[in-house]
Amino acid sequence: MKKIYLSSPNMGGDELYYIQDAFEKNWIAPLGENVDEFEKEVAKRVDCNFCVALSSGTATVHMALKAAGVEQGDIVFCPSLTFAASANPIIYQGATPVFIDCDEDNWNMSPVALQKAFEKYPNPKAVIVVHIFGQAAKLDEIVEICKKHNTVLIEDAAESLGTTYKGKETGTFGKYGVFSFNGNKIITTSGGGMLVCENEDTANKVKFWITQARDNERYYQHTEIGYNYRMSNILAGIGRGQLKVLDTRIKQKTDIYNRYKKAFEEISAIKMIPVTDYSKPNFWLTCITINKNANIAPLDIILALEKENIESRYIWKPLHLQPVFEKYDFFTECENGSYSEEIFKYGVCLPSDTNMTLQEQDRVIEIVKSLFNK
Ligand SMILES: *Cc1c(COP(=O)(O)O)cnc(C)c1O
Repeated sequence: MKKIYLSSPNMGGDELYYIQDAFEKNWIAPLGENVDEFEKEVAKRVDCNFCVALSSGTATVHMALKAAGVEQGDIVFCPSLTFAASANPIIYQGATPVFIDCDEDNWNMSPVALQKAFEKYPNPKAVIVVHIFGQAAKLDEIVEICKKHNTVLIEDAAESLGTTYKGKETGTFGKYGVFSFNGNKIITTSGGGMLVCENEDTANKVKFWITQARDNERYYQHTEIGYNYRMSNILAGIGRGQLKVLDTRIKQKTDIYNRYKKAFEEISAIKMIPVTDYSKPNFWLTCITINKNANIAPLDIILALEKENIESRYIWKPLHLQPVFEKYDFFTECENGSYSEEIFKYGVCLPSDTNMTLQEQDRVIEIVKSLFNK
C-alpha cells in the first residue's frame, strides 16, 4: 500500500519555473535574483521589515543568537518542549540554555515558569520562544515579561509560518524571527531558513557573517569569523513557488485537523492539541494526547499505523530530559514533574500530510479508532 507520510513536500507547480529561470541566467550559485526576491516576498507575506535567506532553520537560530549578542557564558531561556534545533545553537555560541516548561492549555512556553526563571537568572541574554506544531505561544505575556527585563526575544517560528496571533504573523513579534523550509515543514525549499529582522544594518551584518565574513577588499581579508550559511539561488526558486501555495497548504492542514477532531469526538480518551482562541494556527501537525487511564499508549498507535505503512511520531521529547541537555536548569509551574513530560508521554503526532487523500485520512482514523473500540 502507498505510504502515508507525517508531512511530506508538496510542490505547487511554479517552483520549476523559477529554477528554469536560474538555469537560463546561469545563476546556479551562489546568489541571484531568486534569493533577493524570495526574501522580499516572505517579508511582504509576513509583513516585516527585512528578511535574510539562510541554508537552514538551525543556521537561522544560530545567527539570531549571534545578532542578539549571545556569547560564551551567557544564559538563554528556551522552551523544553521543542525540537533540539531550537537549543543546539545556544551551545554553538558557548552559551548556557535554561529550559522552560509549557502550559497545560497551550503547549508552548509558560509565562509563569518564565517568570520563575527570571527570578533566579535576572539577566539572560535572550529568550527563545517556539510556536510548536504551528500553535502560537502566549505572546502578549511573553513579550511583556521580556520587555520588563529588557531581554531580547527570538521567535523560533520554524513550524509556524503563516500562523497568526491576534491577527499578526508569528515570527514578527520578537527582535528576531526564524522560519524553516526543511523538507517536512509547511512549505519547503528542500532545506533552508529565513531570518526576520527589524533593520537593514542587522540584515547586512547577517548576510556578511553567512557568506564567510569577507571584508570589503580586493583580496580575501577577514576580521571576523564567518559561516557558509547562505541559501542557494536554486533553492530560493523552489521557495518562491512554494510561497504561492502557503495559504492553500494552511487551508489543507486546517481541514486535516478538523476531520480528525470530528472523528475523535466520540472517543473520550483522545484529546486534540489545544487551540487557543487568540490565534489562527497553520496546523502544521495535528497531535493528540491519550488519557492516562486508557490502556492505549502512543507506541500502540504508532505501531498500529506503521503496520499499515503509515508514518506517525511521538511528540518532541522534552529537552530537559535529553541526555545531552539534562545537566541544565529547568523551570516549571508543576508541583511534580512537568507538563512537557506528560505531553510527551501521552502524545502522538498524526499524519498531517497535505498529499493525503480523504480516503487515506479515513484509513488513519479507522486504525486509531479500532484501538479504542476493542
Ligand atoms: C525544524 C525546526 C528547526 C530547524 O530547522 P531546519 O531547517 O531543519 O534546520 C528549528 N526549530 C524548530 C522548532 C523546528 O521545528
